[in-house]
Amino acid sequence: LASNPLRPVILAAAKSSRVRALITAAPPTRRLVDRFVAGDTRADALAATKALLDTGRSVSIDHLGEDTTDRAQARAIVAEYEALIADLAPSAGTGAPVPAVEVSVKLTALGLALGAEGPAVALGHARQICAAAAEAGVWVTVDAEDHTTTDATLSIVRRLREDYPWVGAVLQAYLHRTEADCRELSGPGSRVRLCKGAYREPASVAYQDAAEVNASYLRCLRVLMAGQGYPMVASHDPAIVAAVDPLAAEHARGPDGFEHQMLYGIRDLEQRRLADAGYRMRVYVPYGAQWYGYLMRRLAERPSNLKFFLRSVVSR
Ligand code: FAD
Repeated sequence: LASNPLRPVILAAAKSSRVRALITAAPPTRRLVDRFVAGDTRADALAATKALLDTGRSVSIDHLGEDTTDRAQARAIVAEYEALIADLAPSAGTGAPVPAVEVSVKLTALGLALGAEGPAVALGHARQICAAAAEAGVWVTVDAEDHTTTDATLSIVRRLREDYPWVGAVLQAYLHRTEADCRELSGPGSRVRLCKGAYREPASVAYQDAAEVNASYLRCLRVLMAGQGYPMVASHDPAIVAAVDPLAAEHARGPDGFEHQMLYGIRDLEQRRLADAGYRMRVYVPYGAQWYGYLMRRLAERPSNLKFFLRSVVSR
């Protein structure tokens, strides 16, 4: 993660329109996208969901999109989520009391960045999605984006939870503030997905060194496990996965008292192993044509993914 010297370079280059044009036009890109993204359409996401549910895994489905620049685009995203939730309704009972199907939403996709009105627009749109989800028996988790959005995101989650107490929040262990946020969000009924964090952040707000991020993750996980909420352990890191059982035992949590989460296409065998061993294993399934930002964050996490991509471009 943070000790990877290419990470900041890739995340910075990702913002260049020339790099974007190069990556999206390169023929090997599709193969790489297919590794991390279920497909362009809702039907693709539903097919991936079925395969995951059939192998005992749970899902959280994300319609890819971020940095929405106008209200019409945000409304189209809400409509897509409403259609997705309606399609998921028949599977909603699976896994009770914690539904096996959930959706993940990014508030910038729902309009958070639309100027002064942005937070109100995003809240209104998120409420619409939660209302549809409540009717279908599907749950919603609000993704974490870059640190400039953290306060607004957590305050929107707090508002949503007044009406929809099952709405989940995401906290990023690389941020200095997160241990305190974990304490605040570890009350009864609270659902928190803890991840390391995927954005390029300055040293003023985030740990830069992988060892520091890992140590922060373990401190945060301890707070969540000791609390009264439902921790969602989002990591592929074997050291983090191994830390879960002892912490759960220390706080008398059985396999229903927390869940593991991993991304679609990453450590599939480990996902199956955990599901087969009786843990709730939720897979984050992204779909949609707006895969660029998501793909670049996955490349930045793991230089070998980038090497695989560049090798296939060069060897054509
Ligand atoms: P790392 O130390 O990065 O990786 C550990 C090991 O996992 C690696 O050695 C490798 O074996 C495997 N691995 C990790 N990444 C990759 C990859 N890209 N390709 C191939 N193998 C890989 N971040 C946010 O900022 N906001 C969010 O809302 C958010 N939601 C998430 C939801 C879920 C369910 C998950 C699993 C992650 C989410 N993330 C989110 C991303 C997260 O912050 C990390 O960037 C990402 O999970 C990599 O960190 P890691 O804990 O897996 O550990």
